[in-house]
Amino acid sequence: MKLLVNYSRGRGRKPIIAQAVRDTGVLINVERAVIDSSEGEALIDVPDEQCALVRDVMTGLGATVRILDHGIHHNDSECVDCGACVSICPREVFSFDKEWKLVCTENKCVLCGKCIEACPHRALSLPV
Ligand code: SF4
Ligand code: SF4
Repeated sequence: MKLLVNYSRGRGRKPIIAQAVRDTGVLINVERAVIDSSEGEALIDVPDEQCALVRDVMTGLGATVRILDHGIHHNDSECVDCGACVSICPREVFSFDKEWKLVCTENKCVLCGKCIEACPHRALSLPV
């Protein structure tokens, strides 16, 4: 299960991900992170059965945590199978089947958003 974690990195703040690993014993896979001197946003992947535990511990450490049930949303009715999203995706979420129809493997998605801009038919969107 993927979790989107936002947190402050102000003075005196503890390293949230490292502390959550220590406190829960859960091995957290960081799939994407954008961090500057004042705040951070990380997309992490944890085993489904430990998702609530990690969320609760991180929330207790001051983070805002959102459980993401889905990756990128592919609107099949708008898609024209042009393939513009295939090469731009860093996680190989998109491929073609035998009939050259686009296949979207959304559980590989790390919600970076790159494909949304690349799609000429606005067939891709982030989950709400
Ligand atoms: S949001 Fe990023 S990882 Fe997800 S499908 Fe689009 S390009 Fe790939
Ligand atoms: S870029 Fe858009 S229209 Fe083209 S294959 Fe991907 S989802 Fe379909």
